[in-house]
Amino acid sequence: MAGIEVTSLHKRYPDGTVAVEHVDLSIGDGELFVMLGPSGCGKTTTLRAMAGLERQTSGDIRIGDTLVNDLPPAERDIAMVFQFYALYPHLKTRDNLAFPLRAEGMPKAEIRERVDEAARMMRLGPLMDRKPHRLSGGEQQRVALARALVRRPRAFLMDEPLTNLDAELRADTRTEIKHLQAELGTTMVYVTHDQVEAMSLGHRIAILNKGRVEQVGTPLEVYNRPASLFCAAFIGSPPMNLLDVEVADGLLRAPGGLALTPPSGLRRDRPLVAGVRPEALEITPPGTQDTVPCEVVSVEVLGDEIIYVVTSGEQDVRVRMPRTVRFDPEEAVGLRHTGGPPPVYDSSTEELVA
Ligand code: ATP
Repeated sequence: MAGIEVTSLHKRYPDGTVAVEHVDLSIGDGELFVMLGPSGCGKTTTLRAMAGLERQTSGDIRIGDTLVNDLPPAERDIAMVFQFYALYPHLKTRDNLAFPLRAEGMPKAEIRERVDEAARMMRLGPLMDRKPHRLSGGEQQRVALARALVRRPRAFLMDEPLTNLDAELRADTRTEIKHLQAELGTTMVYVTHDQVEAMSLGHRIAILNKGRVEQVGTPLEVYNRPASLFCAAFIGSPPMNLLDVEVADGLLRAPGGLALTPPSGLRRDRPLVAGVRPEALEITPPGTQDTVPCEVVSVEVLGDEIIYVVTSGEQDVRVRMPRTVRFDPEEAVGLRHTGGPPPVYDSSTEELVA
């Protein structure tokens, strides 16, 4: 097992596209590390450089104590799982699992032991004598995961491995991957554009944007204190409210007069935006003390909770409320902030300032 160090990784493709710009990542031994970001942000390129499938323009990659820049993929002792299962169609599950070990010339008895163990971990028992065309998408992906396991690599690199599964299977397989990683304790780097997947899987998450790392943190850290306006808008569903604010009378005031608890150390000499989660706001009957008057614009019932959009000083604000609290569109309501000091950003640099 091994941690992975990426230092000043830069990748420019021959056509001039800069996919990755001086990325630094320090992934701990045994960590489940997620790289999250929108399409085209450079996640796959970074992962493929770790795997040795793409040569970086500059920068270093270390796996454990080894500088792997010049090592071909087969000598990096990692296993990759992609969004496409890439099983051999003419081989039964058992032989698909054994294939990479036979290729290494491993003794038969040891191959059998490793294949049986991987089959047990991924619950493939009844599927061992089937060829891929007789397996469902989810089963094929479990075989692909098991095939990565048998090699007992120093690290797993996964590129959107659940993309082709339906919602229920996706959630189940996600849980399996999480348990597997915890059981084996093997370092895993997992690429996804799905923030729910990132939040539920990652020990830590790196948020990438336009080839750069915008934030690295635990799921709670990135949720509670997004490091930039990009991260603030990207993490959370429904997303954070990004409200233009001014400092007045020791308070932060949003349009419409909504008062927010100010964080300490705030400077007034720049345009500010506060990031307010929908669950840090509350709507009440109109005229309630310490509220500002608003009107309900829309009501979205999501099972146990309701997302209201209300207008406050011409800004639309999302509010998350329990299902038991009911207001109708166009109804007059009161709005107040119930959370602690929100993160505040400089709207010109888009950086977190307090
Ligand atoms: P997705 O989630 O869509 O896979 P990603 O975040 O993994 O996206 P990359 O695949 O790493 O992003 O691509 C990063 C940038 O590099 C994109 O602008 C992409 O168009 C570009 N790119 C990727 N591969 C090549 C290539 N072989 N030649 C030129 N440009 C490329």
